[in-house]
Amino acid sequence: MTGTVENTRVPAVAPEGTPVTGAVVAAARRAALPAYVYDLGHLDRHLAAVKTAFGTASTGTPVELLYAVKANPDPGMLATIAGHVHGLEVASGGELAHVRTHLPGVPVAFGGPAKTDSELRAALSAEVGRYHVESLHELRRLDALARRAGRVAEVLLRVNIPAAVPGDAALTMGGMPSPFGMDPAEAEAAARERDHLTGVRVLGIHAHLASGLDATAAAVVAETVLAWAAGFTRRHGLRLREVNVGGGMGVDYRRPGPLFDWPAYARRLARAATGLSCRVRIEPGRSLSAYSGWYATRVLELKRSHGARFAICDGGTHHLRTPAAKGHDQPLAVLPGPEWTTGSAEPGPRQDATGEPVTFVGRLCTPKDVLARDVRLPRLAAGDVVLFAMAGAYAYNISHHDFLMHPEPAVVHVTGRDEP
Ligand SMILES: *Cc1c(COP(=O)(O)O)cnc(C)c1O
Repeated sequence: MTGTVENTRVPAVAPEGTPVTGAVVAAARRAALPAYVYDLGHLDRHLAAVKTAFGTASTGTPVELLYAVKANPDPGMLATIAGHVHGLEVASGGELAHVRTHLPGVPVAFGGPAKTDSELRAALSAEVGRYHVESLHELRRLDALARRAGRVAEVLLRVNIPAAVPGDAALTMGGMPSPFGMDPAEAEAAARERDHLTGVRVLGIHAHLASGLDATAAAVVAETVLAWAAGFTRRHGLRLREVNVGGGMGVDYRRPGPLFDWPAYARRLARAATGLSCRVRIEPGRSLSAYSGWYATRVLELKRSHGARFAICDGGTHHLRTPAAKGHDQPLAVLPGPEWTTGSAEPGPRQDATGEPVTFVGRLCTPKDVLARDVRLPRLAAGDVVLFAMAGAYAYNISHHDFLMHPEPAVVHVTGRDEP
């Protein structure tokens, strides 16, 4: 599982470690740009490797993998992911309807910080298998709605559990003020009230305490959550049937090569789950889908401004808000345009930059429309295709599409096989 350039014969100019597949390059050359290109073959192999890590580490306690749909709800991506995961975690009535439309048979867990009555009713009639309940108030409302519908909703209590990760600077995550989940004391109150709540069955605990964790930090969080859940159910004489330790497995946009260490995480999770005899679930989003999406566009203008170089691309952060939202430079690769080999068809001198740092921006009328700063490439020319990598998660679906009313990007699915 590496995220490096998969096909060295591809004539893409990519800073080391930027993942580009041959199928994506071929699609970017053919497609109308800007376009999102999703390599479902790449995604399929990545998910298979993640699954293998858990299969190999298993000690008898099953770890079930859910995918957090909010990372990327693209139907093609979802269909590929669904082939590998136990189910999908949705965080709204909209995501629930979307999943039921495109993948009607896939098990669904319903999370999200404040669910409306109509969303809960829709979930009950869609026979959602699991509810991640975020407050005692929500538990009582779900109970009432479920009883009225003649159902029993299976529930995990989402708890804001204090967890400290040891390290150079001990990092505290969870246990801090947050609109997500309930405080431990509220979970205790919910457990005491459960005999009156015949419309819900509490199976265990859910926690999603942080994101961007490396494997060690994620394992420490999972161990803390599992231990807390075991203590909680013991105190209340409940049988612990399930714990969901959340997502948040890190993706390092500054170093596209190294991936989250799934085998190490899986081993520690399996060890922590041994002896609990309950189902353990995780629900990553970003770390599953990020690496299999590319945002492909073209350099329209290569400008010099007061000594700096700017490549103004078609599209921008209204299609790919990830770098602006997270404050990083989106990793990129460049496919030379035809001018490099056949000479410019444009009148006048061709705009190009050789070896200078170039800042890639979009064409929105705001200085915040920056995709990557000071990128050094051997050469860049107007007309070149730029492939922004790691654009498969929290990318198009978190972007402010309507700002300036530019056209939407195309969406292209490719199924690249392993290159020989
Ligand atoms: C967003 C979210 C996830 C997925 O987080 P990633 O960082 O994408 O892995 C999982 N569970 C909950 C409750 C979330 O809000």
